[in-house]
Amino acid sequence: MKLLSVIVPCYNEQENIADFYVELMKNEKYFHEQDVEIEMIFVNDGSRDNTVAEVKKLHEKDERVHLINFSRNFGKEAGMYAGLQRSKGDYVVIMDCDLQDPPALLPEMYRAIVDEGYDSVATRRVDRKGEPPIRSFFARQFYKLINKMSNADIVDGARDYRLMTRQFVESILSLEEYNRFSKGIFGWVGFNTKWLEFENIERKKGETKWSFWKLFIYALDGIVAFSTAPLAMASIFGVLFCVLAFIFIIFIVVRQLVFGDPNNTVGWASTICIISLVSGVQLFCLGILGQYLSKTYLEVKKRPMFIIKEEL
Ligand code: UDP
Ligand code: MG
Repeated sequence: MKLLSVIVPCYNEQENIADFYVELMKNEKYFHEQDVEIEMIFVNDGSRDNTVAEVKKLHEKDERVHLINFSRNFGKEAGMYAGLQRSKGDYVVIMDCDLQDPPALLPEMYRAIVDEGYDSVATRRVDRKGEPPIRSFFARQFYKLINKMSNADIVDGARDYRLMTRQFVESILSLEEYNRFSKGIFGWVGFNTKWLEFENIERKKGETKWSFWKLFIYALDGIVAFSTAPLAMASIFGVLFCVLAFIFIIFIVVRQLVFGDPNNTVGWASTICIISLVSGVQLFCLGILGQYLSKTYLEVKKRPMFIIKEEL
């Protein structure tokens, strides 16, 4: 008998828990036939609604339902890590609670691992139906940018919905970094991954937990976590401005020697423009350095990724 662990990070999902359980359990028969048992690990990420009570209700009915209850909101990345750590399954899948990750795909994903020999099966949505256009636009730009800047293969529209073998899970767990960006980590660990595509499903109940701002910060975190290109960019700016300054100096000295300079005050406006431009670039580069330094600072502190208040 094999075990399939289903990890479900939840943050204020009281309306979705029961529905999710029902939808997931539609696969029960299939997996039973394959001699696979299912366990569910709901990770409550500091919800302020009745998410915990809903999970406990399920736990009373069905002992295959487990709960990890965080002491506060630590973010989805921490929730996924906690779930992976707790999971015992030979196969592990991460799914959103809002049914945007269709449980009906599970049998197909399972077959790809068992019959075709893949180490993980990932999913991506092929469209962004129902998403605000501005958000889609920035998301697309982000994927273009990060793929240019880093060698971790980060797929546009990739979801965290992924079925993995135990070996794959162990390799994910071995990356103990504090600033986690799973979309990058999944690609970074390697192995053979099969991609399945599906059309975007809109969230049925409740609201998205990601504001535009939160996504923007997450995108920056992703870039800092998987690329040092911005640091190189800062050096390139430095070299570029040195070369420019050198050319200027030669130009001015030669002009002075050849023509003399009858009026020294001419050119103050352009001087101010150049000074503001250069100091702007300097501050920008300092900011880039600061980003990396702050991430290093957080890593060095070695704080736990999450704190568990209760486990069932
Ligand atoms: N989530 C979480 N912690 C957070 C934010 C979200 O555990 O701080 C969970 C949320 O409950 C859901 C999943 O992560 O199961 C994806 O969130 P959401 O559906 O809001 O994101 P979207 O699908 O809009 O990208
Ligand atoms: Mg969602």
